[in-house]
Amino acid sequence: MIIDLRSDTVTQPTPGMREAMFSAPLGDDVFGDDPTVNALERKAATMFGMEAALFCASGTMTNQLAIRTHTRPGDDVICDQLSHVYLYEGGGISVNALASVSLAKGERGKLTPDLIREHIYSPADPHKPLSRLVVLENTMNKGGGCYYTVPEIAAIRRTCTENGLLLHLDGARLFNALVETGEPTEAYGQLFDSISICLSKGLGCPVGSLLLGKADFIKQARRFRKLMGGGWRQAGFLAAAGIYALDHQVDRLKQDHARARRIGAFLERLPEVQEIFPIDTNIVIFRLPETILATDYVDQLATKGIRSVTFGKHLVRFVTHHDFTDEHLAEMELLLNRH
Ligand SMILES: *Cc1c(COP(=O)(O)O)cnc(C)c1O
Repeated sequence: MIIDLRSDTVTQPTPGMREAMFSAPLGDDVFGDDPTVNALERKAATMFGMEAALFCASGTMTNQLAIRTHTRPGDDVICDQLSHVYLYEGGGISVNALASVSLAKGERGKLTPDLIREHIYSPADPHKPLSRLVVLENTMNKGGGCYYTVPEIAAIRRTCTENGLLLHLDGARLFNALVETGEPTEAYGQLFDSISICLSKGLGCPVGSLLLGKADFIKQARRFRKLMGGGWRQAGFLAAAGIYALDHQVDRLKQDHARARRIGAFLERLPEVQEIFPIDTNIVIFRLPETILATDYVDQLATKGIRSVTFGKHLVRFVTHHDFTDEHLAEMELLLNRH
């Protein structure tokens, strides 16, 4: 039995999802003709109270399109030093948007109104880049899957509005936050200028992310997507998986969170585990002593059939997901106890 906890992207489509994919009506999406892509975009926009949506190949693409569309060359983007848009998108902000970045140091990667204010440049000072956009990440991957609540985001929104800043959400795992807080999707549409959500993470789709925003913004982002080679044709096969996931695979994320907390309980009993980050959603990060390298530890776990990733020199990350079952959990407990 292979227990694959490297990421929540490693899932296989379920029989129901495959059936939905194979029976989807198709058309050429570059001509706006794919009824399934159009239905997914409409469904997601409506769900979040946004005007429009754009279906893309990846979360990196939706984030990069948002940043490119919101900014002009020389503008400055404020985000946390641990954020995906900065650390894990190949330096794309500087390449795609020709924008600079101001990095805040939030608690577990979360920004606050005060932290944002510290990084806003005076628009009257010609020496400085123009602060234009703030990017939040929810849940926060490098922060161990911690999340913002709507009141926290509303305070950040006020700071952005007072200072003429736009606000984008990297919501690759937004539904993991929403099933924990019970907050409605519509609240998010009112707080952000744009939102990116991933279908290929906890929702279990093979491919795909959505960018949500105002109609004009999405029209411009669609133009940039084409320019980047991201226009696709009968993408309805993939969009059908997205519709299926939004209908059937959101509530079950709670099970991933419960299993992550169970893993945390096993880890507490292991002598080599020095610290476990708080487990708020489906991400478990733990610290090893200075004498054990995370790379060695991950290799050792792999020989036992448990796949994980390093998250720093002495940090290891597990992510629970749709295909990690109670049987895997029980087997993992046995393996770790013997470890
Ligand atoms: C996975 C992820 C993305 C998007 O990644 P892709 O692999 O490009 O789809 C964006 N932000 C966060 C926080 C992520 O975890």
